[in-house]
Amino acid sequence: MATIGFIGLGNMGAPMAANLVKAGHEVTGFDIVLDRAEALAARGGRTAATAAEAAAAGEIVITMLPAGPEVRSAYLGNGGVLGRARRDALLIDCSTIDVETARAVAAAASDAGFDMLDAPVSGGVIGAETAGLTFMVGGTAEAFERGRPLLAAMGRTIVHAGPAGNGQAAKICNNMLLGVSMIAVCEAFSLAERLGLAAQTLFDISAKSSGQCWALTSYCPVPGPVPSSPANRDYAPGFSAAMMLKDLRLAQQAAGANAAATLIGSAAANLYQLFVDQGMGGLDFSGIYRFIRKSEVKNLKR
Ligand code: NAD
Repeated sequence: MATIGFIGLGNMGAPMAANLVKAGHEVTGFDIVLDRAEALAARGGRTAATAAEAAAAGEIVITMLPAGPEVRSAYLGNGGVLGRARRDALLIDCSTIDVETARAVAAAASDAGFDMLDAPVSGGVIGAETAGLTFMVGGTAEAFERGRPLLAAMGRTIVHAGPAGNGQAAKICNNMLLGVSMIAVCEAFSLAERLGLAAQTLFDISAKSSGQCWALTSYCPVPGPVPSSPANRDYAPGFSAAMMLKDLRLAQQAAGANAAATLIGSAAANLYQLFVDQGMGGLDFSGIYRFIRKSEVKNLKR
């Protein structure tokens, strides 16, 4: 049994913290929305009145926050984790944030004598609820081995991706691949429709041909071929288009900072931006099929 301070009890953090409680750990939670910590207490955890109190409560401190600025201030700000955590605490940030912030916070943690891991996740809210997340972890091998049993209480696949920041690097590369492949699948189905080729027929052929990919066979954006895909429930997320846009922007930021050519990744980010600007950010990211299907080249060029 470990004592854990958990900061950020939103859609992902709440079920992750609850799984740690279920696994027998003592979890003290904090969120700026106070009733979220009370909800954790109702599931067997403890409530902290401040982030500082949660940070001081555990041998392990876990954060699950929206983005880089929140993570930076949670760790480096006044009353932040680095000032309040136990000297021997292991710090784990599970948020999806930019690589630069992840590395800067990890370096500050190391200067202050802490082990720190960046451990973003894949698997969404369902993965968080069922303890089925995949963790992509950056940090030293020692810190990884120390954190692994805790992560195993929240996830099924735990991969050490290398030194600090490499967990975030893996996350944004994977999600850029996913965003690009989803758009490619949508374009293929849209073209097929205009050519008079039935969606189910294209699916049956491509699922067994060289165009096969996860966005097609597990998460098909067209209603019908994959019954469990969000296309069959009016694109209720799932993984929202706004979240996909956030990750594609993080990939573009990293590509720009490191002179990597990601031309298709950039186009995917711009398409998701157009889609989100139309008020569709709350739809599942596969809902971009609707936008691509009704678009014509002359409209996109405007
Ligand atoms: P969320 O907005 O539901 O939760 C974030 C929580 O952090 C909120 O409860 C908010 O009140 C709290 N918070 C913000 N600032 C805080 C602070 N300074 N101190 C304490 N609490 C604070 O977001 P989420 O869906 O739980 O996502 C969390 C992270 O996980 C994000 O980085 C997201 O990109 C990533 N992620 C989400 C999903 C998903 O499907 N939702 C999947 C993979 C990764």
